[in-house]
Amino acid sequence: MQDFVLDSIRPVWATIHIPNFIHNLALLRTFAPNSALLVVLKANAYGHGANALASVALQAGAKMLGVATLQEALEIRSLFANAPILILGYTQPALLSLAADNNIRVCIATHEVAQALLQSPQTAPKVHIKIDTGMHRIGFECNEENLEIITEMARKKIHIEGIFTHFARADEENLVPTDTQHALFVSFLDALKARGVAPRYVHCANSAAIFAQRYAHTMVRAGIAAYGIAPCALAQGLLPVMSLHARIIRIHHVPKGEGVSYGAKFIAQDNYCRVATLPFGYADGYMRLLSNRASMLVGNERAPVVGNICMDQCMIDVSNITSAHVGQDVLVFGQNNMGALPVSELSEIIGTIPYEILCAISTRIPRIYANNNRFYTEEQLCKQF
Ligand SMILES: *Cc1c(COP(=O)(O)O)cnc(C)c1O
Repeated sequence: MQDFVLDSIRPVWATIHIPNFIHNLALLRTFAPNSALLVVLKANAYGHGANALASVALQAGAKMLGVATLQEALEIRSLFANAPILILGYTQPALLSLAADNNIRVCIATHEVAQALLQSPQTAPKVHIKIDTGMHRIGFECNEENLEIITEMARKKIHIEGIFTHFARADEENLVPTDTQHALFVSFLDALKARGVAPRYVHCANSAAIFAQRYAHTMVRAGIAAYGIAPCALAQGLLPVMSLHARIIRIHHVPKGEGVSYGAKFIAQDNYCRVATLPFGYADGYMRLLSNRASMLVGNERAPVVGNICMDQCMIDVSNITSAHVGQDVLVFGQNNMGALPVSELSEIIGTIPYEILCAISTRIPRIYANNNRFYTEEQLCKQF
């Protein structure tokens, strides 16, 4: 690790492995070779840094970038004038013209927004219509009324570039519920086509559904798999993109019977207890629920987290790791040249999914972009790609 980057920031950093990201996109494309790939960069690219990964994704074959909000879209737009960007989530009617002015595609998923568009179709952005086939979150239900509303949009020359739905259970082994959603989507597409509406991009596959290889249509949407996390058993060969690292800032002996951290939830059991302090905590996204439950890799050995995780620090037990020393790099999750600690291990401990762990890694943690043994800040990487 080049210290010129680190010394100026913090002895805690997330390494983002660009070759792994590129590998994952290439792998995903082999599962949907005839579909355009939309790479989902919402939530700061699942914590990885959307600005940095936007141009990497486009160069690695992504045809479109997906975000959740207009704010996220505008941030990418400010750096990349020509990137095709689709907002997958809700955009309020008052902001539709701002989206149009910035050439940002908008998801249309509620009657209120559709009515607003129909009132002033000449200022409409390009749209992708969201269909609710069973997720019951956003989208138009598959019925006659909605066929009519969508047909009306087309009649008023609103550019319906895409139509899509989202699966609730594509990550499960049993794909029957997904097949049911898909069949409903296909029959709605047929009905629309009979009315002369056939958008260029038809999409329903998220990461898990891409690996099932029967939901592709003309576009697929990859989120978590792009970041190297397997969404289902069928996903093999992905490489994790983010690793979280920190340096030990203090090591000391804790006398027998003394407690560690707030509330003394860990008590030294003997006089050989050695505790190492790391300079990050729950404000960085290392959730307090992991206290006394997670572990980290010190060299190639496991060190358990001891005591409550604080806002800006946490402690690990290195009693059995004689080589542990101040300044040493510790792996919090991900991989380094000594070993690996999958993010799914942390999510399982606290009963959540890897998505939430990755998204939670706060912007206070510097992201270091690694590409071919060189290291870049976000700004530097944007210039590289
Ligand atoms: C977030 C999101 C995705 C990506 O899902 P993954 O499971 O991360 O691949 C795809 N489509 C929509 C509509 C989303 O909101």
